[in-house]
Amino acid sequence: MTRQPAVSRLTFDDVMVPTYSPAPLIPVKAEGSRVWDSEGVDYIDLAGGIAVTALGHGHPEVLAALVSQAKQLWHISNLYTNEPVLRLARRLTDATFASKVFFANSGAEANEAALKLARRAAFDRFPANPEKVGIISFAQSFHGRTLFTVSVGGQPKYASGFGPLPGDIEHLPYNDVEAAHSAIGAKTCAVIVEPVQGEGGIRPANREFLKTLRALCDKHDATLIFDEVQIGMGRSGSLYAYMEYGVTPDVLTTAKSLGNGFPIAAMLTTDELAPHFSPGTHGSTYGGNPLGAAVADKVVELVNVPTVLNGVRERSAHVLASLRGINGRHGIFKELRGMGLLLGAELSDDFAGRAPDFVAAALSAGVMILNAGQNVLRLTPSLIIPFEDIDEGLRRFESAIPSVTDSQAAA
Ligand SMILES: *Cc1c(COP(=O)(O)O)cnc(C)c1O
Repeated sequence: MTRQPAVSRLTFDDVMVPTYSPAPLIPVKAEGSRVWDSEGVDYIDLAGGIAVTALGHGHPEVLAALVSQAKQLWHISNLYTNEPVLRLARRLTDATFASKVFFANSGAEANEAALKLARRAAFDRFPANPEKVGIISFAQSFHGRTLFTVSVGGQPKYASGFGPLPGDIEHLPYNDVEAAHSAIGAKTCAVIVEPVQGEGGIRPANREFLKTLRALCDKHDATLIFDEVQIGMGRSGSLYAYMEYGVTPDVLTTAKSLGNGFPIAAMLTTDELAPHFSPGTHGSTYGGNPLGAAVADKVVELVNVPTVLNGVRERSAHVLASLRGINGRHGIFKELRGMGLLLGAELSDDFAGRAPDFVAAALSAGVMILNAGQNVLRLTPSLIIPFEDIDEGLRRFESAIPSVTDSQAAA
C-alpha cells in the first residue's frame, strides 16, 4: 500500500501559487447539499461550488454516467469524434436556439471561443471594413481569466498589471439603453453580456435592455453573445436565461453547472456563424472529451425537465421569503435580487464592505455561502436542494449574524 503524505491547510501556503486564500477547513466528502470537512464537521452547501453542482454532490445517476464512461473511453483527441459528445451536442441543440456546438473546458475558454468566433466572422464577412473589430461589454461584468476575457470583463482589477491587453474593447454601463444606442455601430463586431451579472453583484438585465442589444446587433451586423456560464443550465428556472427574457443571442456560452463539477463548457451558436471556425482556426485538446461529455449529457438530461425547473422557482421563492424574514429580524439587507437560484442580498449601508465577514461567520456556523463583491451575499445552491437543507442552512446563517453585527456595533 502506498502511503499518502500528510497534508493540511498549512500545506497550501507551502506549495500552492497563492491565487486563492482558501478557508481554514478542508472539505473531504459531500452528498447532496451536505459537505463534511477533514475533522468530520458538517456544512450545508448553499454555494454549490460557485453555481456548479446543480444536482448536488454525488448524484447517483451522474456518478453512474461517469463510472460507466470511465470504463469505456476517457480520451481519444479531436482527431476522432466520440459518441458521448455527439449525444450531448444533439441534446443541447435540440433544447436551444443553437444548431452547432463547440466544446471547451471552462467558462473562460467558452467565452474566448465566442469572442474569437465573432472577430473571425466579421473578418470573413466584411473585408471592406477592417475596423469592424469592436467588442462592447459592460461595467462589472465577468467573463473569465484568460487575457482576452479579463480585458473584456468589466472589472478593471482583474486586468490590471497584465498589459498590453487586447484592444478595441469598450465597457458601457449595464442596463443603459441610451449608452448602447450611442456606442454600438458599424465598427462593432460583438456585444457580450451576462443576462444576470453574477460576480458583478447579482444584477439581472432588464428585458428592454437585452431587446435593445438584439436590435442593435441586427442593425449593425454584430454578434450578440450571452455569457450564461453562471445563470445558465437551469439556474434561472428555464434551461437558459435567454428563454426567460425571450431574447435570443447568436452565441451562448455555458459551463459551471453543465458538468456538475466535471470541467466542461460549451459555446452554442448558429449554422450561419459556425463555419467561420473552419478546421484549424480554433480547437482544444480536451474539449468535448468522452468523459466530460458523458457526464454533461446526463446532467442536461436530468436538469431539463419541468419538475427540476419548476423546483428552481419554488426554491427561489422559498429562499427569498426566508431572507426577508431574516431581514425583518436583523435589518442587514437593503435589497434582495437575482433570478431563480442565483440570488443576491445586498448589505445595508451599515454593513458595507463586510460581505466576506458574513461568509466567514456563516462557515463557522456550518453553512457555505458566497459573496459577490464586498457588499453582496450570494446564494447558488443545488437546483434540487431539499427544502429542509435550505431551512437548516439559513437557520445556521441567521445564528452567525450577531457575530458580525455585534462587532460592527462595537467598532
Ligand atoms: C465563472 C464565470 C466565468 C469563468 O468561468 P471559468 O470556468 O472560471 O473559466 C465566465 N463568465 C461568467 C459569467 C462566470 O460566472
